[in-house]
Amino acid sequence: MLLRRMAAAVISAVAFAGVLVAGSAPASAAPRVLYYDASQAQEFVAVVNQGAQIWNSRATNVRLEPVTAGRTPNIRVYADNGWPRAQTTSLGNGRVWMGRQAVNQGYHPPRIAAHELGHILGLPDRRTGLCADLMSGSSAPISCANSYPNSRELAQVEANFRSSAVARVTPQTYVWQPALAGAAG
Ligand SMILES: [Zn+2]
Repeated sequence: MLLRRMAAAVISAVAFAGVLVAGSAPASAAPRVLYYDASQAQEFVAVVNQGAQIWNSRATNVRLEPVTAGRTPNIRVYADNGWPRAQTTSLGNGRVWMGRQAVNQGYHPPRIAAHELGHILGLPDRRTGLCADLMSGSSAPISCANSYPNSRELAQVEANFRSSAVARVTPQTYVWQPALAGAAG
């Protein structure tokens, strides 16, 4: 009887300890930090920083930080006269072009920046035409000024960068090009 009581006490102590251990663990692991180099983004440096801050204000599993001296960036950002686009090499790594063709048509530059960074974070294009969707890209009206991911888009990025996640990203180039122009991206 005594043994049985001791065994029960040990079991409950172990269970309690288990609860304590679980309870004292941090709410979430440290975010994965991705460094971006916007030094070649010309007139878009500020808007690229804004796009990064948009993601940082919502995501907890990943952070986008300006690259520091001596470090190889995960993401390089350029400016040119073509369509904005993102070339992913693996999750969190790739290149972004802030193409002036869309900016000159009137598309909202912070939305372009956050959208292209969204590709680097593992989101594909979803041409829903809805302004509430960040990844609808150029399929939303030109007047669309929403630069923030919706809850589904954010949840996907959070899942991609969970510490236990094994997200696979096929290297791909996504192009911000209106459907009228006959593009798939
Ligand atoms: Zn896109």
